[in-house]
Parts: sequence; C-alpha cells; structure tokens
Amino acid sequence: MADHDNEVDLHDYPATQSAEPTGPLDLDYLRDKYRQERDKRLRAQGTNQYNFAEGDLAKYDDDPYAPPAQPREPQTEELDVLIIGGGFGGLLAGAAMRKANVPSLRILDVASDFGGTWYWNRYPGVRCDVEAYIYLPFLEETGYMPTERYTAGPEILEYTHLLGRHFDLYQDALFQTRVTGMDWDEEASRWNVTTDRGDRFAARFVTTQSGIFSRPQLPGVPGIETFKGTSFHTARWNYEFTGGDGQGGALDKLSDKRVAVIGTGSTALQAIPQLAASAQHLTVFQRTPTAVGVRDNAPTDVEWFKSLPSGWQQQRMDSFQMLADGTYTDDCPVDDGWTRYWKHTLSAVGAIPEAEMSPERYGAEMEKADYAWNEMIRARVDAVVKDEQKARDLKAYYKATCKRMGFSDDYLPAFNQDNVALVDTAASGIDRITETSIVVDGVEHQVDCIIFATGFELGTTWAHQAGYDVVGREGAILSEKWETGIRSYHGLFTVGFPNIFFMGLTQTGTTICVPHMLSKQVEHIAHVVEKSLERGITSVEATPDVEQEWVDVIAGKSELRRPGQIECTPGYFNAEGKPNDTRSAIGSGIFFPSIEFFDMLADWRAADDFPGLVTTT
Ligand code: NAP
Repeated sequence: MADHDNEVDLHDYPATQSAEPTGPLDLDYLRDKYRQERDKRLRAQGTNQYNFAEGDLAKYDDDPYAPPAQPREPQTEELDVLIIGGGFGGLLAGAAMRKANVPSLRILDVASDFGGTWYWNRYPGVRCDVEAYIYLPFLEETGYMPTERYTAGPEILEYTHLLGRHFDLYQDALFQTRVTGMDWDEEASRWNVTTDRGDRFAARFVTTQSGIFSRPQLPGVPGIETFKGTSFHTARWNYEFTGGDGQGGALDKLSDKRVAVIGTGSTALQAIPQLAASAQHLTVFQRTPTAVGVRDNAPTDVEWFKSLPSGWQQQRMDSFQMLADGTYTDDCPVDDGWTRYWKHTLSAVGAIPEAEMSPERYGAEMEKADYAWNEMIRARVDAVVKDEQKARDLKAYYKATCKRMGFSDDYLPAFNQDNVALVDTAASGIDRITETSIVVDGVEHQVDCIIFATGFELGTTWAHQAGYDVVGREGAILSEKWETGIRSYHGLFTVGFPNIFFMGLTQTGTTICVPHMLSKQVEHIAHVVEKSLERGITSVEATPDVEQEWVDVIAGKSELRRPGQIECTPGYFNAEGKPNDTRSAIGSGIFFPSIEFFDMLADWRAADDFPGLVTTT
C-alpha cells in the first residue's frame, strides 16, 4: 500500500489489466456529466479571455531572480550559428554545434543564466513531472545521477548550468539580452539580428525556441491591475515577500498573511502544499479541478543507477514515448502514472478480438478505459479529502488527455488543513479583483497576496509569444505569414525565411518529455548546419510544394484529433475549446505518432541531399 494514510494506491491497480472498470460504470451518466462540465466552461472569447504580461501588467514579466542588467558593450559579430534561448532547447542546440565543431556560435537569453523554464519556474515545490532519468538529457555523457526520481527544480536548474559548463557554452552566451528583430540579408545570405543591448549579429543560421511556456499568462479578470496587495505569477516568484529561498525551506514571511492562489493546474498542484504549510490562511480559487494521480517520488537507488547498461537513457525515453504514441510495449522500464495510464488504455483496446476491431470499437473501449481510470482518480479524492463539499469540488470530469495529467501526493491532503479554503468558481471563474479582495459570486474574499498560477501564453501567435518579428526574403513578414497559424516543412523550416530553424511545438512530433522532442529537432538541425558548412552551402530553404504537403499532412492529423478536441474541456490543448483557432503553435497542429516522425527525420537525413530544400552555395 501507499506510504500515505488513507490514500488509494494506484500500484494496486495492475498496469496491464484490461479495461474492466473497478466498479460499475454508468457510461451514459459519465458522458453527460463530462459534456455538462465542458459546456459550463466554454467561453466565447476562447484564448482571448486572458491577459498577458504587457502594458499595465508588464511588471508580471520582470525577472525577480537577478539584479537589473549591467551595461555592456554592444557586440557586432559574424556568426555561423545564433541560438535564441538558453533553456534545454538552446543547451541541446549548443551542445550539438560544439560536437559539430561549428566555428562561431552565440546563445542569447533574456534570463541571467541558462535554464529556460527552470530558470523562471522557481516556485516552492517545483519539480519535474516526468521521471528525471528520461527528462535530463545527456545523463550518460555527463555521468550525473539525479538524486530523486522526480527531481526538484533547483537541481534541474543546477543541471542546466552543469550542461553549460560541460559543453563549454558559457563563453558563447549573452544573458539578459532580448532579441528585438531579425532581417534576412539576401546578398550576404545571413540574418541580421538585433537585440535590446544594441548588438548586431550577422548569423548564417539561427535556431529559435522562442514562444513556448515562457511568457506568464494572467486571468482575464476585471480589476486585476487595481489590486493593492502583493501579487505575482508563479513563474516570477517573489521570495522577498513570501520568505524562503526556493530550496525547500518554509515560506516564513507568510505566517501572518492571507494568501490567494488562482489556478489549479500542474503548477498549483506543486505550490499549494508549500503555501498551505506556511500561510496564515490560503484560499485556492479553482475553475477546473485537475485529475491528481499518485506521484510516488523516491530517492534514486544508487546501485541500480550504476548498473544501467550503455544506451539505457535513449531506450527508456523511446519506450516511454512509444506508449504515449499508442503502441503497447512491455519493454518500457518507466513505471509511473503516465505509463500506467497508457498501458491501461492500450491493453483495453489490445483485448479487442481482431475480427471485432473497428475505429468505433477502438474508440468505445478507449472511452470506457478512460472513464474507469478517472473513476479511480476520483475515488482517490474521496479517500483523501475529509470535507465532503471540498471532495466534490476537487473531482475532475474530463478525459485524461484533455489537460496535462497531474500527479501529487501532498496536494489533496493540503485541503484537510484548517487554514486552507477552496473557492470553486463553478466553472465561471472570478468575477473581479478589487484593491483588497477577490470576488466570486458576489462574495468578497479579502487577501494580502494573490499568486497567479494561471499558466503561460500559449494560444497567441508565434510572433506574439516570441516578442519579436522576422523579416525574410523580399520583405516577407513572419507574423503576417503565420497570422492564422504556422506553415512549415517538418515544423523546422518555412518558405521565405531561409536558414532559420523553428524548434518547439511547431507542426512537429511532440513528446510528454519535452527535451526528447527538442533533442530530435536539434539532431536534424545540426545535420543541416554541419553538412551546409562542410559543403559551402550558404542558404537552405523549403520549397513551397513540400511546405504545402506538410501543412496538408498536419491538417489531416488535426482532423483525426478534432472530435476528441471538441469533446474536451477547454484548455491550451484545444485552444480553450476552440479547436478552429489555429493561430498558435499548438493550434497549428502536431504530427503523431512522434516516434514515426523521428524515424522519418532520420530517413530524411540518411538521404543526405536535403530532400525538399533548395540550397545555394
Ligand atoms: P495551466 O495548466 O495552464 O493552468 C492554469 C490554471 O489557471 C488552470 O487551472 C485554469 O483553469 C486557471 N485559470 C485561468 N484563468 C482563470 C480564471 N479566470 N479564474 C480561475 N482560474 C483560472 O498552467 P500551469 O499549471 O502553470 O501549467 C502549465 C504547463 O506547464 C503544464 O501543462 C505543464 O505542461 C507545464 N508544467 C510542467 C511541470 C513539470 O513538472 N514538468 C510542472 C508545472 C507545469 P481552467 O483549467 O479552468 O482553464
């Protein structure tokens, strides 16, 4: 059984069991309930309901972790490769360029160090929700052993710095530097890139992972700018106000404070138990509950880690993604909430006799298995949360794949504390924020501090999230080309904008373990850069034909996902309930299954002649 009192242990639920529900499942009731819950949450504005950290709210984007940038001399340089972003994407790209002996390189980041997501997200309790053994790249190469299965944020941040040192990337990094624009110089076949520090780079190739999980999103609540207490976003934590240092210590300055958290997504799941332990009073404002599965973290078994054979990390990563892609395998050594869910649903459809297999039957068995899984998750809420009303409010009624799955062993118990209140906004959200309070259903909740756990700007265009525009061949403007969605070849190239590679969630094969996706994108980019430099190729650009073909492939994939997206409760996976809103990178569609996508890229590289790209020398 679980270590935690009165919790349901999902280990008791056999991972390979077929989709027999644990109790009688009333499918009609559940279908109805899920639809009702979704309908309550659908909003005409979709993604436009949100506020972003700009204009009056620009302060929510300020860096609380570093002193203001010191003046420095502007740089004017010719570069082979310019990498925008120093998170895992930039680090992986930097490492690949080092390995390819690219002569000149620059990495730019707005932050004051490497780390990306892990630089910004220093909220108390921050932890990777994917096993560190697959999440942290290069473990075999660096020899680093994560201390825990689900590593805490500070350790991951430290590891990004280790990678910076390991690949000798600090010498090429310019931090606290924001790209302001990029122009293609046809004659020189280079990108002229400008920054807010006055730099001018003439770069042959540019990689960018701008525009994903980087800019704080704020709720579209009237009066948000009028609040007179302290307020901040979870990705810009104000330790000066809360006390503590993000290293696990108590938030000792909150003992006389009434704190509000808005949002109950993956971030809130991790921060709320820490706030509950320290605040005089904590009020959690919930719009949609998250389904919270077992976390089951543990220290790394040193002997086991030492015994892992060469090549273990890629095998672990690939087999994890294979399950995520929908291919059953018993060869995946990861055994956690993710893999147990996938095995549970995949074995349900695997049990359909061949003669009876049809898309309808497949869908029906999947649906049943998902309902059964979530009944178990809901049963866990009842088993843990003592107050009946809170337990009712904390139960999620949507398919597991509608939102990022949540895992925690201390989130639900926090609601048993006397100092923790849950205000379920019954799907409608908050009415307004005043100088001193948050108002829901006409009831005013007085608070000293509001913490926005309201996620990241994901539904807007690539250029809006990146914060700069790109001017390509013949004055083509990227924000115009991508106004209603990304158009790309393999997610990496776009016509009219040679030599720039787009990383991230751009019509690509995505992975739950994000560095896995990034590593595959980097492998491809490094191949193109290395071969181009070797062969004296000065520009590479997709042809309109291959771009159109790829856009059509992605549109076909999106069509297959559409029924599921329509059924889902609103969230950033379905453009807040408006799957026809294709303007964002996520809205522009993805390729699945991802392992197939990665294999396709490998075949492309093996062809060795850049199929679908026009090159000039
Ligand atoms: P999120 O999943 O987007 O959640 C935002 C929360 O704010 C939701 O609960 C949302 O409710 C709520 N909200 C928005 N507007 C509201 C309003 N007007 N009134 C009340 N509530 C409102 O953001 P997140 O939790 O920061 O997570 C973002 C992503 O970061 C995750 O999906 C995950 O991919 C990643 N993440 C990863 C880890 C990791 O360990 N690797 C940890 C944390 C986060 P609705 O659901 O009703 O919209």
